[in-house]
Formats: sequence, C-alpha cells, structure tokens
Amino acid sequence: MKLGGNTLSPIKAFCLAFFTPAILQGCTTTMTLRQEPVSIAIVNGIVWTADPSHPWAEAVAMSADRITAVGSNAEVRALASQSTRIIDARGGMVTPGFIDSHIHFLDGGMNLASVQLRDARTPAEFISRIKAFAATVQPRTWITGGDWNHENWGGELPQRSWIDSVTPDNPVWINRLDGHMALANGMALLAAKIPPTGGDVPGGTIVRDGSGHPSGIFKDNAQNLIDAAMPDPSPAMLDRALDAATTYVSERGVTSVDHMGTWSDLAVFERAHRTGKLRTRIYAAVPLSTWAKLRDTVAGRGRGDSWLRIGGLKGFVDGSLGSHTAAMMQPFTDAPRDSGLLVNTPEDLYSWTSNADKANLHVIVHAIGDRAIKLQLDIFERVERENGPRDRRFRIEHAQHIAPADIPRFGQLGVIPSMQPYHAIDDGRWAEKVIGPERARTTYAFRSLRDSGARLAFGSDWFVAPPTPLEGIYAAVTRRTLDDKHPNGWVPEQKIGVEDALRAYTIGGAYASFDEKEKGSLAPGKLADVVIIDRDLTRIPSETIREARIMYTIVGGRVVFDRRGNP
Ligand SMILES: [Zn+2]
Repeated sequence: MKLGGNTLSPIKAFCLAFFTPAILQGCTTTMTLRQEPVSIAIVNGIVWTADPSHPWAEAVAMSADRITAVGSNAEVRALASQSTRIIDARGGMVTPGFIDSHIHFLDGGMNLASVQLRDARTPAEFISRIKAFAATVQPRTWITGGDWNHENWGGELPQRSWIDSVTPDNPVWINRLDGHMALANGMALLAAKIPPTGGDVPGGTIVRDGSGHPSGIFKDNAQNLIDAAMPDPSPAMLDRALDAATTYVSERGVTSVDHMGTWSDLAVFERAHRTGKLRTRIYAAVPLSTWAKLRDTVAGRGRGDSWLRIGGLKGFVDGSLGSHTAAMMQPFTDAPRDSGLLVNTPEDLYSWTSNADKANLHVIVHAIGDRAIKLQLDIFERVERENGPRDRRFRIEHAQHIAPADIPRFGQLGVIPSMQPYHAIDDGRWAEKVIGPERARTTYAFRSLRDSGARLAFGSDWFVAPPTPLEGIYAAVTRRTLDDKHPNGWVPEQKIGVEDALRAYTIGGAYASFDEKEKGSLAPGKLADVVIIDRDLTRIPSETIREARIMYTIVGGRVVFDRRGNP
C-alpha cells in the first residue's frame, strides 16, 4: 500500500499482519498517512497503477483532488469515514484517467453541439430536428454541421423550402455527412448575397428549383460561396461546444487532452477555467509559427495550472496519406509520379523549432510520410546539438510511415511518437494500395518504436476519429482493420500488449506533456484522475476490448461520469 501525506501511520503493522509477501512489498514503500478525510474510496477493483514500483492493487482512496492511498480493500476501507463515498468497482479494472494526446477539442465539440441529422430517417424528422434545435440558439446564430444523409429517405435532396418557415431567425448551413454538399436556408442565401439567378462556379454546382432559383443545395466548390459569408462561431456556441466535448470524452474515460489548436481556442478554455467549468484537463498547443507570441505570453502570466496549461507549439511538415499529401521518400505506389508535399519549407521548420526551443517552449510537429518524419528528426537532432542539452521532449504527431532507418532515432533522440492507433485500423483497409507492402511493414510501427526505447503517447485526433481510448487500445493490440479483413491484425508484428497501450494512454501521455509527476499513474500525492472499466482488459480476449464499458470517470476527485447513476 502507498499512502501520501504528513503524519506517520500505524498502517505498516497492519500491513505486516494481513498481507501476502507480494502485497507487503508495496506496503512497505511509502508509509505516511494523510489526515484529511477520504472523500472517495474505490474498492473491489483490479487496480492497474502504471506505477512500476507497485503495479497492481485492489483499492484507491482520494481526498480533495489528490490520491491519498493505493492498496488493499482492507487498507483503504480502514481510511474511510462516514462521509466517504464508497465506490464498489465490482471486480472491474481501475486505471489512471486516460490522456488523449492529440485532439481537436472544439471542432469535435462543435459537431456534437450542433443539430444531429445523421440518423434522421424522413424529411419530417429532418425538419422537426432543425426546428427544435433552432429554438435553443440565439437569433442570427448560424446553425451548422448536421451530417444529414438523404439516402435515409430514398434520395430526395432536401431544399430550403422545407426549413425556411421553421428557421426564420437563423441562417442554416448544414452539410451532408460526406461534406460534398450542403443545404442553405433563405437567411443563409441572403447573408451570402446569392443572386436568384446566375451561373455555377468552377468545380461546383448550385442546384436550382423549377423556376430557376437556388434550391438551397450547394455542391463541392459552390459551398465556398456560403462558407465565405459565415462568421466565426459566437462565444456562446463555442462554450456550448466545449461543454459537449467535455461530456463526450468523460463518458469515454478521458480526463486530460492535448489540444491542437489556435489562440482563439485558448480564449474559450480560459473563459471556462475562470468560471470553474473545466472538467477535462487541457494542454493547449498553439501554432508553431507563433512561438514568439507564446514566449511573451508565458513570460507575462506563466504556463497555467493542472486544468489548463500552455507552453506547447504545434507545427506541420506535410499533409495526409489519404489525400496523397504525406511527404514520402519514394512515390506513392498508386501514383508513381507523386511523392506528396511539404506544407512548410525546411528552413521555416528549422528556424521555428530552434527559436521555440531556445525560448524553452515545447515543439510538437505533425509528420506523416517517411520523408517528412526524417526531415523533422534531422531538425530535432540539429537543434539539440546547437542549443545544448535540455529536457525538451520533442514530439512527432502521427509518425505513421517511418523509414526503417529512422525508427531507432526516436529512442536515441528521446523524440516522442504521438500516435493514434484507431487510424491504423481505419487506414489499414486501403493504405497498402497507396504505399505498397514493403513500406506497410513500418507503418504505425508501435512495436518497433517501443522496442527502440521510444516513449509512446496515444490519442485520437478527434474529430477525425472517435475519442475513445478503449477503441484505441483495441486497435493497437489487435490491428484488426474496420472492415474485418485482417482477423490476425494488419502487419501483426507491430501489435503491442494491453499494458503497453494503457501506458501510452496514461503515463506516456503525461510524460508527453511534462505532467508525469502530477498524473498518469495511481500513486499517493498524484491528481485523483481515475477511470473504472467494467472488466479487466488484460484478462479478456483482445478482440472484445472494444466491448468494455467505462463505468466511472473521476477528474480531480470529482465524479464526472457515472454510468450506474446515468444508465
Ligand atoms: Zn490532428
């Protein structure tokens, strides 16, 4: 058992009397007891701590926002008072709260917070949902998102005449789920000054009704006409998006996120923090090219606290594999004249990285293709040589397609691969067509990276993929693609174990944001960020991991999700 706090405790004798040698070893480590009352005691758990000195336990106690003890049921029950809330884990697994190391929190939240049309089955349902949603927003607020699908009701395209009468006060601009067309209502047409007649735009179509007027549907490039008229989302909408995102990730066991975003996103988080509304901890990265502004901001007001912290800068080397914009050393297998592109020059990337590093800031760079990854590793190596030793924890985001020779460099240089395992089982359906079988062997190379000594951090890249660590663990452990075409896993030699994946979602994520002393494992003194899962992930067939359910999510000693309370 490990306890944190001030006064010496009688627990050691207690331990000696009651426990087997294996538990006793843990018992004899930190033997002080905190006197504050225990607010929550989790008992009957299979507690996976991510703390190698004390890897397993049965129970966890917390006081205020900190963990105060990790040990056996008897030990933790002995600390409880009448005011302690006892949570019975019923044999489920208890782990540190999950850290999603790469997320676009507000984009994800905006999608959730807007009208939901994906499963609208009839035009009547489509209309009534829009009407109901419009009643919940301020006049003149744009209603966006939607993800409707006209195939649900036989293929008739929606038109503005369906919704104009139920949305008299709000511009509506809602997209089909594939993003290739969207519906505008009359107010949106007015805002965008779309003339009643006139031609299409190159690469796009304005659908017209029988009398030649715009029906409200704009396809492909024609969508730019309305997009251009859309204002930035209002502060109220952004607050709502943050709240929706927080609830959504809490239900999935996520207690901390590394947000890849902008300065205006930071303002939204700061507003929530000031009013005590944050329920997810946020490490908010801003664009790498703005390193000087971040340097000055940090100098002026510091890096923040355990709820909201700054200091990270996110840059881009290349694009994505799916759009053939990942920068590769050799051409794409299915596009022999194309080897992708760099979205920034090597000179800019070097100077931003070097200057940010000199300013003691944290450099986090998106690189997907092997050429992009090598370029950024070279920059990291050069900057380290020039700027001298420092605990810098450079990160490469995605790190998808790595040249074999560059894999050991992650471990050697201490560069963190920040990866999204769900992308592997998604892309795995088609990636080999684009890069061929040889390059596929070092794609999403979880195992090779781990074996090289690299410290993995896992995340989702939500809104692009679901922010669901259990899906990510399933993906990393099984590598079974979403189309079920690889039952033994796509590139199975790159599978890792459940505990490896758990580490990447907990202590690995904490390390990737310089937070490993505060969170990422269950130990006395650490922040009380804890998840209870309904089953022990290490003892079930790996293909059933995605069926496991989060039962409780606790952040800073506060229950933010309780499945039993909210079935
Ligand atoms: Zn991203």
